[in-house]
Amino acid sequence: MTPADPTRPHPADQTGTESHPTAPNAPAGPDAPTSTEPPVPPSLPQPQTRQVGYAVLGLGELTLDELLPAYATAGRSRLAAVVSDDRDKAVQSALAYGLSEADAYSYDTFEDLAGRDDVQAVYIVLPNALHREYAERAARIGKHVLCEKPLAGNVEDAEAIVRACRDAGVRLMTAYRCQYTPLHWRARDLAQGGALGTVKLIHSVNVQVEPDEGQWRLRRDLAGGGSLLDVGLYCINTVRFLLGTEPLEVTARTHSTPGDPRFTEVEESVSFQLEFPGGVLVSCSCSYGASHARTLDVYGAQGRLSLDPAFDYTSLRLRVHTPDTVTEHRLRETDQFTLEIDHFSACIQAGRDPFTPGEEGLQDERIMAAIYRSARERQPVRLDEHPGRDVFRGEPPERPRMERA
Ligand code: NAD
Repeated sequence: MTPADPTRPHPADQTGTESHPTAPNAPAGPDAPTSTEPPVPPSLPQPQTRQVGYAVLGLGELTLDELLPAYATAGRSRLAAVVSDDRDKAVQSALAYGLSEADAYSYDTFEDLAGRDDVQAVYIVLPNALHREYAERAARIGKHVLCEKPLAGNVEDAEAIVRACRDAGVRLMTAYRCQYTPLHWRARDLAQGGALGTVKLIHSVNVQVEPDEGQWRLRRDLAGGGSLLDVGLYCINTVRFLLGTEPLEVTARTHSTPGDPRFTEVEESVSFQLEFPGGVLVSCSCSYGASHARTLDVYGAQGRLSLDPAFDYTSLRLRVHTPDTVTEHRLRETDQFTLEIDHFSACIQAGRDPFTPGEEGLQDERIMAAIYRSARERQPVRLDEHPGRDVFRGEPPERPRMERA
């Protein structure tokens, strides 16, 4: 860890709450006064040599809408190349972000990046089942790997990715943006710090309507699974992050509407229960057939924490309910992808593992495989026990200043 890369919570972490007495029909937080504290200076672009250069693979929705803009505001990270089989799109994207035509690669010329010393890492933003091939190819040419969630389409591929990166001596990070955002860290502090009393129950839902027949998310060979791998994963991963412990047993059911052509290869809906150490019972639901909702509620002996929305890119809301108060935690928003990418760059620069390494993504793959098995066999499935806290995670990330919005 460098002095400029503190991992301890910033003192401002402790500020930024507004409590209100509970009153019938009282609005919970939107009316809370805003902070008078000075604004946080944006992270300043650093000289090129102090930034880690990335090649981004795949120019789909996430890359174009979120990731390329995130590099423009990153401090430790720099977009150095793009990779796509659509030459026009690749060149246009490169030029739009200050690169040259020569920085646009195809999947066939990917290995040419080996000769680019200014490209230290690749960011894989391709359909899930392609993550393995490109992680292995990146590792072979000595590039660090940032891989979108889920780490792969199945456990075997996830294991292969972890192995390939370890054998090649490159760093691997699963791109779990929710483990880098200030509000999720605040929720974790509240859940683990006793503010809710002993945590008893957690409920989480992540559902959306997936309308596109024929898109890769509905094809088993490209997606690896349905709503569970794509959106249910957020429920699993965020609960594990909030508790810091690992589930012991799963019970699950899946359902797909008979005759719906979208769900001939992958499942529509999954409902699953996870039992965590200490008897914390977790109930989650995900679907490709229900109208958009992304929520997470932690029920403790003395209060309830509610994240709604819980997994969106922006405008997350965190409220804590006790018998007498509703407290809204309003924190200044920082781009989630910028935080995530800059964390990986800091780890590459410092020579340490990221907070969400490949093993973190692999553990979720194992849990999801157990969920499918439980649904198939219609009985509970025991998971391997992993006592301890944050057993699959690296050092905590640089904590962004958590000031009131
Ligand atoms: P997308 O369909 O918008 O883009 C996929 C890209 O992969 C396209 O550029 C496409 O041309 C390319 N591609 C290469 N080979 C392909 C093939 N054989 N079939 C289809 N496409 C092919 O998808 P997306 O939404 O950008 O998702 C990409 C990855 O990012 C997925 O793993 C997804 O789970 C993940 N993702 C993460 C988040 C997040 O919040 N972290 C959000 C969305 C997507």
